[in-house]
Amino acid sequence: MSEMESRRAFLEKVASTVFAGMVLGGQPVKAGAEPVKVELPPRPPDGPILPELEYEDVLVRMQRDLERALKKGTTPKWVMVIDTRKCVGCHACTVSCAVENKLPPGVVYRSVIEEQIGKYPEVSWRFLPRPCMQCDNPPCVPVCPVGATWKRADGIVEIDYDACIGCRYCLVSCPYQARTFDFGESWTQDTPGQGQMPYEELPTFEWGEVHVRKEGVVPSSPVGNARKCSFCLHRLEHGLLPQCVTTCIGRATFFGDASDPESLVFQLIHQPNAMRLKEELGTEPRVYYLV
Ligand code: SF4
Ligand code: SF4
Repeated sequence: MSEMESRRAFLEKVASTVFAGMVLGGQPVKAGAEPVKVELPPRPPDGPILPELEYEDVLVRMQRDLERALKKGTTPKWVMVIDTRKCVGCHACTVSCAVENKLPPGVVYRSVIEEQIGKYPEVSWRFLPRPCMQCDNPPCVPVCPVGATWKRADGIVEIDYDACIGCRYCLVSCPYQARTFDFGESWTQDTPGQGQMPYEELPTFEWGEVHVRKEGVVPSSPVGNARKCSFCLHRLEHGLLPQCVTTCIGRATFFGDASDPESLVFQLIHQPNAMRLKEELGTEPRVYYLV
């Protein structure tokens, strides 16, 4: 068996129901479908992932890696790594992302897909955080009729809110359902006696620019546009890790420069249990999962 075949056989063993939909392609299995009996992957050993992490929080290590990447003078290769064995499904990342980017109803950058395994009383859960994969071969880019989305040199797939015409071709083309549409709604718009609160129109700083969330406002209101995770580009430019990384309760999310052999993410993506979603599509995602 080739390395690719044995890798796929391993992943097929690990993946089931919703995970299988995301990992192996095709549509996710609908909620409520009969659970499939699967053999669970072995639990990770107790203790640090890598020996050098023993006395240091991974956030400290990643912050150091980030500062080194920003100073090195060449373009970093940003990647994210998510350890599915450590994710506890708390959704802290989803919420902190929504706060960081002031996301309105219906716009989600980082959902956490949940899968129930087994039947009562032998039930367990598995969680799959799903940001934009920042694909190296992104299907969302060539379908845009006005060139409003493109791949940056550092790997992040960017959106220009001024150029986007809201056709939503990119939403349909994304195999990871990573894009959502901003219909211009606000959380407080229908509150009796109050209406929409002013804080809902406070600016966001996605893509390193100021965006006031009001229809027709120039420059670059996100209302009426496709939206997605930016790996918190605005934070990276100020030497900060993405918000979901710093708020992850399970320390399950890692970020850094994959072109730096000294970085934590370089070491993690070269672990034998690192994989990417729907690799067979050739999208070359920049988000890796440890399974
Ligand atoms: S995950 Fe979807 S939105 Fe993100 S780069 Fe890939 S195709 Fe585009
Ligand atoms: S914050 Fe961390 S542990 Fe919580 S759902 Fe997100 S990835 Fe999982």
